[in-house]
Amino acid sequence: MKLPTLTCPSCSQTIVSDEYQPVSGKRAPNAQGYLSCLRRCEPCGLGFSNAFTDQADKLQRIHRDPLASLPAEIQAGACEVLGQSLNDINRSSKLLKFASEGSEDHLTWVIFRYLQIQGQLREVLSKVGVGPAVNAQREPTMLLWGSPVPARNASGRALSNQLVQMLERIGELKNRYSEPDVLLDFGETGVVFIEVKHLSGNEVKDKSYPNWPRYIKNTDAFKDINQLLDSGLYELARNWRVAYGLAGNRPFAVVNLGPQALFEASNQTRLELFKQSLNQSTVKEFDAVTWPDFLNAIASPPNWLDEYLDKRLVKREWKHKQ
Ligand SMILES: [Zn+2]
Repeated sequence: MKLPTLTCPSCSQTIVSDEYQPVSGKRAPNAQGYLSCLRRCEPCGLGFSNAFTDQADKLQRIHRDPLASLPAEIQAGACEVLGQSLNDINRSSKLLKFASEGSEDHLTWVIFRYLQIQGQLREVLSKVGVGPAVNAQREPTMLLWGSPVPARNASGRALSNQLVQMLERIGELKNRYSEPDVLLDFGETGVVFIEVKHLSGNEVKDKSYPNWPRYIKNTDAFKDINQLLDSGLYELARNWRVAYGLAGNRPFAVVNLGPQALFEASNQTRLELFKQSLNQSTVKEFDAVTWPDFLNAIASPPNWLDEYLDKRLVKREWKHKQ
C-alpha cells in the first residue's frame, strides 16, 4: 500500500509515498525518524508522519538534520550533550524524537543554549521571579537532561556526578535515572530545576503507581502525601524531591515552564493540590512560568530565534499576548 500523496509545504513539490505493509487495517507503521517517514521531501530534508491523510499541515514534520537551519554556535555540541543524557534506555528514542518539529528537547536545547551563550540565563530567570537567579552574582553551571553543557565543562561534570549520587541515594535504577530537563546551579544562591513542556502536558500517574514510594519515603520534601497523590503530578514530584535533596541547605526552585494551557482548568486544579503538598518556604519554591512570560524576558532576541519560535508554534501564544 501507499499513503496519500502530499504537497511539500516548504517547496510545493509533490511527494509520493513509499510502499508499506499495513500493520492493522490499512494503517502504516509509525515513523520513528526521518528515514522511516514514508513521505519525504529530499531537497528540503523534511519527512512527514505516516498518518493516512493528504493534508501535510495535519502531520508531524521530522527533519533529516534537525539543527541545519540554526546558527553554527547553536548546532555545535548538541549531539554530544544528548548522547550523554542520563537515561540509557531513553537515549536512542530521544535522538529520534529530537528530529521531530514538536520536540520539547529541541526547544529546550535551542533556547537554553542560546541564553547560556549570551550570558542571559540569570537575567531571564530573574525577570520571571525565580529566587536563586534573582539573588545570583554570576551565570549558572548548566545541565540539560543531566548532561553538562558544554559537554566537557568541568563544573558541569561535577554537578552531573552530584546529581547521579542523589538519584542513587533515592533508589533510582542505574539505566533509568530521572533527567531534569534543565538544571542550573547558581552556587550559594541556589539551584533551579526546570521541567519544560510544549505540546504535551505534565506527566500524571495514578496513586497505585509502584514508583511513588521512592520519592515520598524518608524525606520531608512533602508535607501532605495525600494531596500529592491526588494531584498525580509524578514528574514534578520527582523534580521536587531530587531538587530538595541536591540543594541541601541552599535555596532551590522547581520551575514548570509551559504554555498557558498547562496552568489552566483541570491542570490548574492539579497544580494547586501539588503546590499545597510541598514543603515550601521562602527559599524552597515552586514556580509556574508561561512561555510568553519567559520569552518576553529575553533581551532583544535575534531574528533567527524569532523565526524558529514561530515555526515551532511557541510564538503563536507569545504574539497573542504582546
Ligand atoms: Zn520540499
